[in-house]
Amino acid sequence: MSVRELVVLGTASQVPTRHRNHNGYLLRWDGEGILFDPGEGTQRQMLRAGVAAHDLHRICVTHFHGDHSLGLAGVIQRINLDRVPHEITAHYPRSGQRFFDRLRYATAYRETVPLTEAPVDADGTLASTDSYELEARKLSHPVEAYGYRLVEPDGRRMLPERLASYGIRGADVGRIQREGALGDVTLGDVSELRRGQRFAFVMDTRLCDGVYELAQGCDLLVIESTFLDEDVRLAVDHGHLTAGQAGAVARDAGVRHLVLTHFSQRYSEPEEFARQARAAGFEGELTVAHDLLRVPVPKRQ
Ligand SMILES: [Zn+2]
Repeated sequence: MSVRELVVLGTASQVPTRHRNHNGYLLRWDGEGILFDPGEGTQRQMLRAGVAAHDLHRICVTHFHGDHSLGLAGVIQRINLDRVPHEITAHYPRSGQRFFDRLRYATAYRETVPLTEAPVDADGTLASTDSYELEARKLSHPVEAYGYRLVEPDGRRMLPERLASYGIRGADVGRIQREGALGDVTLGDVSELRRGQRFAFVMDTRLCDGVYELAQGCDLLVIESTFLDEDVRLAVDHGHLTAGQAGAVARDAGVRHLVLTHFSQRYSEPEEFARQARAAGFEGELTVAHDLLRVPVPKRQ
């Protein structure tokens, strides 16, 4: 049984608060763990959430502001201290290479684990595995930022009653899956499309094409809503979204489960973010994130 879930490690923008750590999110996707935007304190939040360094396979950083990257130093050293037995790959904007270098080598430690640097400098596909394609899209923020999304390839679901009606059984089931036909019977006659699942991670951006492209058709969308709608001027000036803007994006993109996060410390009422996202017309499942929350990727439709 494959596990696909989001583990929220931190939800504060800019500065941590008494109740919110700097950003940090782990996505478990089948056997892989992808760490997004480890802010300061992420190593300890992993401990509190039951996430081990061994669970990590990939790190994706949207941009080099502290709330999205200061945790790299600690997490990378922990990966090496624990001698994680597999390679780790890190993605981040190439324009921030000097920051990545400093964080990776912030203090002395013994490197024991191969860490592949795979910086991003354009929209496109970063990696392909059996269970997902990882893509990046440029966002709009005062420093260069990229959002990420995972797209599972579409597959086919075999229909037992159709197989039975054509008398196909045993090894012939595998044969028609591999070869696409068996005599006059095609794969389409005995199966239906199984749409791949989609997850997107959109942090620190104004509204821009990249936001909509990343969100399109997502089963689970994690998106920043730093500000409430009444502060939309501040949001635009600083390169952020409001709760209402995030809700409207999710509505237009057909998102199934929307997770709002990356909140400014100026607000004390989390429910207001949900209310504004709803007022923008989003009708799917909605979560206002808090630290250590787990959100499963919604079941296939
Ligand atoms: Zn931020």
